[in-house]
Amino acid sequence: MKWTKKSHEFDETADRLQTAFYRKKKQLYIFGAGLIGERLEWVFKKTGCFAGYLDNDTEKQKTGVNGERVLSLSQYMESGEDGWLILAAGEKNMPLIERQVLEAGLKRESDFYLYQEFMERFFPILAVYEYDRLWIDLVQISLTERCSLKCRKCAHACYAVESTRSDMSLETVKQSVDCFFKKVDMVGEFVLIGGEPFLYADMSAAIAYIGETYRDRIRIFSITTNGTIVPQQEVLDACRKYKVHIRVSDYSAALGRLEKQYIRLRESLDQNKISYVFGDKERQWFDYGFERGSRKRQEEELIEVFDRCKTPCREIRGNRYYFCVMARSVSENLQLKVGEDEYLDLDQPENDDKKTLLEFQMGYSEKGYLAMCDFCSGAEAVKALIPAAEQWEEDTDRREQ
Ligand code: SF4
Ligand code: SF4
Repeated sequence: MKWTKKSHEFDETADRLQTAFYRKKKQLYIFGAGLIGERLEWVFKKTGCFAGYLDNDTEKQKTGVNGERVLSLSQYMESGEDGWLILAAGEKNMPLIERQVLEAGLKRESDFYLYQEFMERFFPILAVYEYDRLWIDLVQISLTERCSLKCRKCAHACYAVESTRSDMSLETVKQSVDCFFKKVDMVGEFVLIGGEPFLYADMSAAIAYIGETYRDRIRIFSITTNGTIVPQQEVLDACRKYKVHIRVSDYSAALGRLEKQYIRLRESLDQNKISYVFGDKERQWFDYGFERGSRKRQEEELIEVFDRCKTPCREIRGNRYYFCVMARSVSENLQLKVGEDEYLDLDQPENDDKKTLLEFQMGYSEKGYLAMCDFCSGAEAVKALIPAAEQWEEDTDRREQ
């Protein structure tokens, strides 16, 4: 979307939302006291609008959750309490809960919201306009573009990065998070990524700095890894101390040799009492098709591609805030020099306004798209499935292509 009234794009939506929110006494109830609900509880409490839980589980109604009361829907309806219900359930249960609240006479976008829609489209606006708090669901920082694998279709084009390439300096890591948290109040998940982040030599110091300085503003502090490296003890110690959650992308379906490595990694994480999750074995990826080059799209089509894409992958890099980590990294790693100046400069006073950052975060920019969108299949990538984690076998193999 193109900026037409920068820092005022959401004024009307905010006005409508706030009026409705005041009618509901600024209270948010979470219907679903599970993992999704807990994630919402954290951010609603930070803004002071959490009113309680509802859940169908009678055990939770008896005991409460996290020290919070849990009502049944009928108790809520009979109590006369009246807020917005935020339905927090996975794909399977959501239709059941939605039917339940509709049958109770509640209306969508008047009495209740589905959490994905609320958190993507409405809560960030409410948080800034009502509470002067900027909330960002997900942000990443790429510590190194080097990787221990060389996947042919790496969406960051890390296969093209020499193993001798310098990583982000620790000073730049500190500058990145300082710049970012000067403007942003709360983050749902803050992720250290790569390349392979456990190749980063200053990992324990980076974790310690972020953990010491900003941990209370981050709901989930995580590292996404391909699981090929068992971290050194000082890194494990830092992960435990600052409650870093490890997310392992499981490429063992394509690379059987990783099974043994994963066993060693699990043992180490278990021994060090670090929380982790292995994703499902990845067999297929979406192909963004960056290496196919420019699609020669015109402005209107580029804006359409960008608007349909809805990538959640924001990135910080020094004073630069990027909308799409793939666009930045592919351009840089393939030395395309495309869209190099397409970021929000967090050091510029004109970007001090939280509303400007909110708008950028939600997809507004001067052009309304990124130059790299011309090299990308965007939302259409889901239709182009490719085998996951296929490797470039040798450097010579790469040069021949
Ligand atoms: S493991 Fe991940 S970062 Fe590394 S080359 Fe493969 S897709 Fe890229
Ligand atoms: S369409 Fe644009 S914003 Fe979306 S992933 Fe591709 S380059 Fe990034």
